[in-house]
Amino acid sequence: MSSTRKRILVTGGAGFLGSHLCERLVAEGSDVLCVDNYFTGRKDNVASLLGKPNFEAMRHDICFPLYVEVDEIYNLACPASPIHYQHDPVQTTKTSVSGAINMLGLAKRLRAKIFQASTSEVYGDPTVHPQTEDYRGNVNPIGPRACYDEGKRCAETLFFDYHRQHKLRIRVARIFNTYGPRMHPNDGRVVSNFIVQALKGDPITLYGDGSQTRAFCYVDDLLEGWIRLMAAPDDVTGPINIGNPVETTVAELAHKVIELTGSRSKIERRPLPVDDPTQRCPDISRAKSLLGWEPKVPLETGLKKTIEYFDRLLGSNAAPVETRPVA
Ligand code: NAD
Ligand code: UDP
Repeated sequence: MSSTRKRILVTGGAGFLGSHLCERLVAEGSDVLCVDNYFTGRKDNVASLLGKPNFEAMRHDICFPLYVEVDEIYNLACPASPIHYQHDPVQTTKTSVSGAINMLGLAKRLRAKIFQASTSEVYGDPTVHPQTEDYRGNVNPIGPRACYDEGKRCAETLFFDYHRQHKLRIRVARIFNTYGPRMHPNDGRVVSNFIVQALKGDPITLYGDGSQTRAFCYVDDLLEGWIRLMAAPDDVTGPINIGNPVETTVAELAHKVIELTGSRSKIERRPLPVDDPTQRCPDISRAKSLLGWEPKVPLETGLKKTIEYFDRLLGSNAAPVETRPVA
């Protein structure tokens, strides 16, 4: 075992964002332990890292205690797309809350620095626009999105209580919609849905009238923000918004994907899901001033890279890729 390399645990490391993070940390020379129960993550996402001496993957559910020795923890484990987090909502809350307690307990024992992947969903359907970190949100506590939103809100509470009570070094990032290669093709998120539908020539499923907005951040930009946050002085605890402050309607996104893929797909309207936020866009002043960070990749550039990824994936997969809950 190396004594000089930083040892970093990434929970949810086989997921979309986790696999990119593992890749970056391994390339930087850290010893990376990826922990995942493969609920929405895939071994394929980290297959290229398996031969590296500074990477290790472990199947584990963070709802159960974990005994390992590390210097830093990135806590990402939690299904992130509405269809997946609503599939077993009780388990989603458990993952956010019990998972956070277990990982914070681990960090406390090891005196390790710990990062939480929080979310713009803590703002619910926001009445303040764009969202600043001091906005307290507008979350329906009993709706279908609550298992995710309230779970993540409670995790933030736990992080700040461990910080105040046990002097734990914490970093809380509120992540806004992020996209890029390795999104799961069947996870129902808007960017992956639209690209897969466009490439297959299937109808583009636009929920509601498409006037709801999101702000889409390319994965590489997001990771740069995370790494800077983790490296920042310990008084920079967050919460800190990490996202791309360029607001786009979902209808505009549909047209952009059709244009970039050259698809003949037609747009098909579907009902708007319950509690779907009407507008969302981060105020990133805090990230700019504290981390010197802002996104660099324009939507069109990021979409082209993501389209290339799905084009290759669909070309090489005769059978549809499926995600099943772990028994
Ligand atoms: P993802 O679903 O691809 O990744 C989540 C990973 O966590 C998966 O690999 C899954 O198998 C694993 N996991 C789930 N429950 C687990 C458990 N109990 N124990 C161990 N592993 C478990 O999603 P993602 O987009 O990569 O999101 C990663 C994190 O970032 C999540 O916490 C999510 O809430 C947060 N986030 C993501 C976005 C986004 O736009 N992608 C936005 C806001 C917040
Ligand atoms: N959406 C859509 N068609 C789809 C998938 C999503 O119109 O096939 C919409 C969805 O209703 C929401 C937005 O796109 O308004 C973003 O949805 P996603 O599930 O990606 O993320 P979230 O709602 O969690 O931001």
